[in-house]
Amino acid sequence: ENTPASNFLQTIISDDLASGKVTEIVTRFPPEPNGYLHIGHAKSICVNFGLAEANGGRCNLRFDDTNPEKESQEFIESIQQDVRWLGFTWDGEVRFASSYFQQFYEWAVYLVEQGKAYVCDLNAEQAREYRGTLKEPGRNSPYRDRPVAENLDLLARMKAGEFGEGERVLRARIDMASPNMNMRDPILYRIRKMPHHQTGTEWAIYPTYDFAHGQEDAIEGITHSICTLEFEDHRPLYDWFLDNLPVPSRPRQYEFGRLNPSYTITSKRKLKQLVDEAVVAGWDDPRMPTVSGMRRRGYTPAAIRKFCDMIGTTRSDGVVDVAMLEFAIREDLNANAPRAMAVLKPLKVVLTDYPEDKTEMLAAPNHPTREDLGQRQLPFTREVYIDAEDFREEANKKYKRLVLGKRVRLRNAYVIEADAVVKNDAGEIVEVHAHTIPNTIGENPEDGVKPKGVIQWVSASAGKRAEIRLYDRLFNHEAPDRGDNDFMAHINPESLQIVNNAWIEPSLLEALPEQGFQFEREGYFVADRYDHSSEMPVFNKTIGLRDTWND
Ligand code: ATP
Ligand code: MG
Ligand code: MG
Repeated sequence: ENTPASNFLQTIISDDLASGKVTEIVTRFPPEPNGYLHIGHAKSICVNFGLAEANGGRCNLRFDDTNPEKESQEFIESIQQDVRWLGFTWDGEVRFASSYFQQFYEWAVYLVEQGKAYVCDLNAEQAREYRGTLKEPGRNSPYRDRPVAENLDLLARMKAGEFGEGERVLRARIDMASPNMNMRDPILYRIRKMPHHQTGTEWAIYPTYDFAHGQEDAIEGITHSICTLEFEDHRPLYDWFLDNLPVPSRPRQYEFGRLNPSYTITSKRKLKQLVDEAVVAGWDDPRMPTVSGMRRRGYTPAAIRKFCDMIGTTRSDGVVDVAMLEFAIREDLNANAPRAMAVLKPLKVVLTDYPEDKTEMLAAPNHPTREDLGQRQLPFTREVYIDAEDFREEANKKYKRLVLGKRVRLRNAYVIEADAVVKNDAGEIVEVHAHTIPNTIGENPEDGVKPKGVIQWVSASAGKRAEIRLYDRLFNHEAPDRGDNDFMAHINPESLQIVNNAWIEPSLLEALPEQGFQFEREGYFVADRYDHSSEMPVFNKTIGLRDTWND
């Protein structure tokens, strides 16, 4: 569904369309290509693309690539892939802020000519001191009243690369006494002797976010420029540039609260640290809150979009319970994931009454309610594996699995009864001997002695070994990076456990990478996007069947 929950942004847009202030909604998603997209970006993508879609408008994908230092082509590609994977299509070609550099420069010259910008020679420390504080007004830079001609000359020489980094900046000439620190003669250009991934060595100066963003919006005809709350007090500056430059259109900035899920960090810098320090295997490690990590974990685009819709769009920066995201994933997979059987801790059961050379093919539905998902064939043989947790020599009535002398149903197959155990020298159970109860496929035993429960199983001879990666939350702290918390100290040591001798039913050999399943009684799993093959099946645990964190 593409109707975003009614929110304050939708109200603004509806009013603007109704009053004729705008005739078409144009939004943009403007990531800086300095990392992979995360769940917070997914929210921003849903807001921007969702509002455009719901109002018959357009949404641009624009790389806000004004600072070459941490940006790269790898990030540019992953971002496009992630936006597409989430199910959105941007209008026309991908945009790059860097393709407007010449225009920005001409506008900077324009401001200088108007006496509204000047080249300042204060170093960073001096500039900080002149800037004042929230309580104290700033002081005018001694370079503030430089003649226009001198400013034009110095700016041209900055551009030509004549000065070193940090030697000079271009600043707007606004108000050093403004209560809004952003208005105290903010920097428009910095000298940066660094090649840019798009423009190469063409530029020795780069515009700041503030000098670029509104102008990018104006060039692209953006009507509603939606960003997060930390930019609220940049809005007067956003407007100042648009008011003082001959821009081709007049966008407006609106802010909403950042998404901060519990047990999660959403700062690219910190996510990069997890990658750089090898806490995780990469940006797309299934434990990462990145879009590509969630993808590899088996989260679906529909569930992520549903979650973003469910939490609404507000003007507060509260923490959202990550269990809501997990709920959305579970709900989607429960409705759509085919069922299959896997045994994570195999214990062999020998059905002593069942002929050694016999294999029955038993039909099993792929989903309890979705007939459209069809059925599969399960080979049933004399030796099967069940999970070691599903057998006990003795147990009380609450234990609804296999017990010596008692019965259990093998899912989609026979009721069996356990007769004996075989133990090794250490006294561990290595094998269970049991027998089948005749005519119990889809029927209760004729003697009226019912099985205690239903468990999953896999044929020992027809099944296949698989690697299963059990993932859990990466952090064991609700707010890993809040306040003074050191997120590195709150890594869940059990966030990954690898089971390399699981046993899976043969139909799973046909699973395609990224295909999701419910392994009955175990949880939701996905065939690994990169490592899975029919020769070497690898499944990642997406999420358990129910929330065990809040039990
Ligand atoms: P980070 O702090 O992780 O570097 P950022 O805001 O600097 O994030 P950008 O690439 O500039 O990252 O973000 C692109 C867009 O996504 C921006 O409009 C930004 O406001 C939005 N965004 C980033 N993080 C969140 C979040 N947690 N919740 C909602 N929107 C977000
Ligand atoms: Mg940013
Ligand atoms: Mg950032």
